[in-house]
Amino acid sequence: MKEDLQVYDNILQLIGNTPLIHLNKITNGFKGNFFAKVEGFNPGHSSKDRIALYIIEEAEKNGILKPGSTIIETTSGNTGFSIAMVSIIKGYECILAVSSKSSKDKIDMLRTMGAKVYVCPANVPADDPRSYYQVARRLHEEIKGSVYINQYFNELNIDAHFNTTGPEIWKQTEGKLTHLVACSGTGGTISGTARFLKSKNPDIKIIGIDAFGSVLKKYHETREFDEEEIYPYRIEGLGKNLIPTATDFDVIDKFVKVTDEEAAHTARELARTEGLFVGYTSGAATQGLKQLAEEGEFDKDSEVIVIFPDHGSRYMSKIYSDDWMTEQGFFDTKNEAASQPIEI
Ligand code: PMP
Repeated sequence: MKEDLQVYDNILQLIGNTPLIHLNKITNGFKGNFFAKVEGFNPGHSSKDRIALYIIEEAEKNGILKPGSTIIETTSGNTGFSIAMVSIIKGYECILAVSSKSSKDKIDMLRTMGAKVYVCPANVPADDPRSYYQVARRLHEEIKGSVYINQYFNELNIDAHFNTTGPEIWKQTEGKLTHLVACSGTGGTISGTARFLKSKNPDIKIIGIDAFGSVLKKYHETREFDEEEIYPYRIEGLGKNLIPTATDFDVIDKFVKVTDEEAAHTARELARTEGLFVGYTSGAATQGLKQLAEEGEFDKDSEVIVIFPDHGSRYMSKIYSDDWMTEQGFFDTKNEAASQPIEI
């Protein structure tokens, strides 16, 4: 049992210092030792708490943010929640421009956290004045002294992980890790953590997880943007249809792609085998581990850290819904116990 009982001034003091948890069963038969850095333990239930707090505190230090200032971002996902949470405690106005594709649950959750949410049409090009990108940009121009987080193109996203996630992993492993496996969306997590770890030991291998339907892996290999790599996929928060400047491709050794279906099944398997109720991309990262183990990436001395970006509660109507899994056709090819009808 955990022993240190502490009292905190506010919820922001609980951001970071997330645990490393040994993966005991799902890695059965793999060579090496595997630990997950479980970011769902952050108070906003994801790694995005780190960047929200870091970017906002940098803007405070630089005198950009003053009491009552406005913070703007274009996301209905984890980053939106984290910015809303930090804004409440620090007394800022939070405006989130989101796509009309966002679920009602997510929009309700953000409004509950005090955010002003602008719902923008999903099916317009990014340069259309009605798109959530343009709405955010316009609000940023109109509201004097506002801060636009712009996580895909903000270097501070990398710095947040360079200063927190990287040092934590180095300390928790006493510098003994050999591999870091992390999902890449904005790229902030993998790039910042990798920059720190490689500054300590350049031999640590950094492996990014990408989705089929995303350009990142191909771009890493060729430094060319190949539109043919882009098609719709279901994992949220992983991969991209553009090249984010918050990704430092030079510190990543290679990318592995995973399918929507395998990532979903592996996330469910993490709950059943390790008792870890984590998000879709944690399933994706663990699926990546399985593929890497099969390819012979690890040996008996490997100390592998895999980052689990968020908690499972945000995926109840998706991968943790048998109905959703059936609608996607994900139960046709895999006959797993969780899919069997039960009497209630
Ligand atoms: N997983 C989830 C659930 C996310 O929301 C994100 C962020 N888009 C990532 C992984 C990837 O993290 P990063 O943006 O730092 O690359």
